[in-house]
Order: sequence, then C-alpha cells, then structure tokens
Amino acid sequence: MLSCDLIIVGAGPIGLAAGIEAKRAELDFLILEAGTICQSLLEYPLGMRFFSPADELAIGGYPFPTPHDEKPTREMAINYYRKVASAENLPIRTYERVVRLDPSESGYTLHSLRLPHQLPAQYHTRCVLLCTGVWGKEKRLSVDGADLPHVLTRYDEPTRFWRQRVLIVGAGNSAGEAAIRLADADARVWLAVDQPTLEQCKFRPFILREIQLRVEEHRITPLTETQILRIHPDCVDLRCTQGIENLPVDFVLTMIGLQPDRSLLAPLGVPFGADGKPVHNPDTYETPARGVFVAGAISRDGFVYVARERVKHSIQAIQRSLDKRAR
Ligand SMILES: Cc1cc2nc3c(=O)[nH]c(=O)nc-3n(C[C@H](O)[C@H](O)[C@H](O)COP(=O)(O)OP(=O)(O)OC[C@H]3O[C@@H](n4cnc5c(N)ncnc54)[C@H](O)[C@@H]3O)c2cc1C
Repeated sequence: MLSCDLIIVGAGPIGLAAGIEAKRAELDFLILEAGTICQSLLEYPLGMRFFSPADELAIGGYPFPTPHDEKPTREMAINYYRKVASAENLPIRTYERVVRLDPSESGYTLHSLRLPHQLPAQYHTRCVLLCTGVWGKEKRLSVDGADLPHVLTRYDEPTRFWRQRVLIVGAGNSAGEAAIRLADADARVWLAVDQPTLEQCKFRPFILREIQLRVEEHRITPLTETQILRIHPDCVDLRCTQGIENLPVDFVLTMIGLQPDRSLLAPLGVPFGADGKPVHNPDTYETPARGVFVAGAISRDGFVYVARERVKHSIQAIQRSLDKRAR
C-alpha cells in the first residue's frame, strides 16, 4: 500500500493551489482527483464568464493574462489551470474517486475507486486535505414535480433553449448569469427571485445591470417574492408579487445553491453547520477529525482569491502537525 504524509483530495483550483504549497514545503504528498483536473469547471456552462478578474483566479503566483484584461471565460480558466498543473508537474492521479477514510493508528487508510473499471485502491496517509468543492450537489426545490425531466439544475449550451419558455429560479449570480445568457440565446425567460426587488438579490452589480437592461427590453421578465408551489409537465404553479398563479413553461432551471458531499466526513463524526459546510478550526481549517483538513469551496471560502491564501495557512498547519507527531 502506498504511504505518504499528505493526500489532497480534489484537483480543482484550490486542490492545485494546495499542491503547489505542499510542493514548496517539500511535503511527501499525492493528489487524487475523481475526474480530470478542474473537473468542476469542465461542467460549468460553455463560454461562462467568471465574476472575478483573472488576477483573483490566479494561483501559485502564476500570472493569468487575458486579452484586454477582460474577465476570464470558463475556457480561459481551464486552459490556465491546466498550464499551471503541467508547469508544476504536480503528482496528480486523475479518474480516482476517494470513497472512504478509515482512521488508523498513525493517520488514515484512504479507499478509492479508479475509472474506468472502478478498481479499488488503498493508500496510507498521515493527513488528508479535502478540496472537494461543492459542485455536483445542487440543492433542489422541495415541491411536487421538482424531479420532472424538464426541471434542470444546470445547463451547458444556451442555444438548447432557443425559443423555449424558461423559468429560472434563483437570486444569486449563477441564476442571473443564466437569465442573461438564455435571453441572449432567444429564450423567453422569467427570473423568479425570493426578494421584493432585483436590487435586493445577491447579484454582482454588473450582472444586475445586464439583467435590468434585458428587463427594459422585455427579454427577461422578473418575478419577485416568488414561491414555487408545484411543477407540472407544461406549467408551474407559483405565488409572486406580479399576481401570476400559473405559468406555462417548457423548462425550469433551478439555481438555488450547492452544498458539499458529506460522505467522506460524516462517518468520521465531523458535524456540519447550518450552511451545510463542515465544522473546522477557523485558523488551521482542521476538522474535529484529527489530521483531516478542508480548503476551498467545501470550507466557507467560496472565492478563489480567499481560499488560495487560506490554504497556505492550512499547509503550514499540516506541516506543524506532521513535525509534532514525528518528534
Ligand atoms: C458558475 C460558477 C461561477 C463561479 N465564479 C467564480 C468567480 O468568478 N470567482 C471565484 O472566485 N469563484 C467563482 N466560483 C466559485 C469557484 O469556482 C470555486 O470557488 C472554485 O472552483 C473552488 O475550487 P475548489 O478547488 O475548492 O473546488 P472545485 O473547483 O469544485 O474542485 C473540486 C474537485 O474535487 C474533485 N472531487 C470531488 N469529490 C472527490 C472525491 N471524492 N475524490 C476525488 N476527487 C473529488 C472534483 O472532481 C473537482 O475536480 C464560481 C462557481 C460557479 C459554480
């Protein structure tokens, strides 16, 4: 069984940033990734533009130039992170999903399944850093009809919705961006938010402006203080300030948040907060399971520029913990 000091689980932007810091700290480590590098970003909508400027998405001190300093698209970010991972030659094993952590005397036995044949593998590690993100665990509406096939929680290509009637549910940036892009792809878009006005939603100012512009052009119809009551195959029952009670639709796109997979931490007795995130020490990011740390979107650091700094402290804490146990 292969043994090392640290296993980083997940090779998203923060798993990669952690790997760079671990390499600089000369730790004996390995990264295991369920898909390919930045798998979550590969599943973001095609052509999606990030809300942050490139320098806020950069990791490891590598510059992230974009034409005319514009905000990066999904494609630019994937390209950038791939180049960083190659330049650093990080020890990453892709297509290997970690499925269980068993505590052992000197750390953890980590169990994984390797694609394409789901071959089981085991590792021994003294510390684990989970950078598994929140992508893939979309919250769903808890109403009748939420599981119907035309109710989606993500999309890839806006043109799929050309001349379709789409109700988008959500008051955050992802829902706002989807409303803009689908309206631009000639979909008929209603944007249902829980707030009394669009201005009170969590949209970044530039997203709000883009939505407002399309509202003025009658390409997005906002539905405020909306409660979805029931989804039917061809319409939605809802309550909102506009007084609509039944809206005929072709698709419903719910973008009401993401939450982390609990399957690795819950069996170790790690509690989760009201926001669905695992409880951890705010300085070291160590969870109550000794030697198991979290970083990135699975912790409370939703933005890359915050998480990439915090992960440096976690790697230092891991190093201290390894040194202490070696003495
Ligand atoms: C639509 C959208 C737009 C965003 N825009 C911005 C923005 O403008 N600015 C910003 O700072 N942030 C933005 N974010 C958030 C940003 O994408 C995340 O903060 C960032 O991706 C977090 O990186 P991460 O490495 O923590 O998680 P992720 O990128 O989600 O990476 C997690 C990795 O772990 C792997 N994994 C999961 N479980 C396992 C397992 N059991 N075994 C092995 N591997 C596993 C996954 O395959 C994945 O590759 C956006 C998010 C979304 C969804």
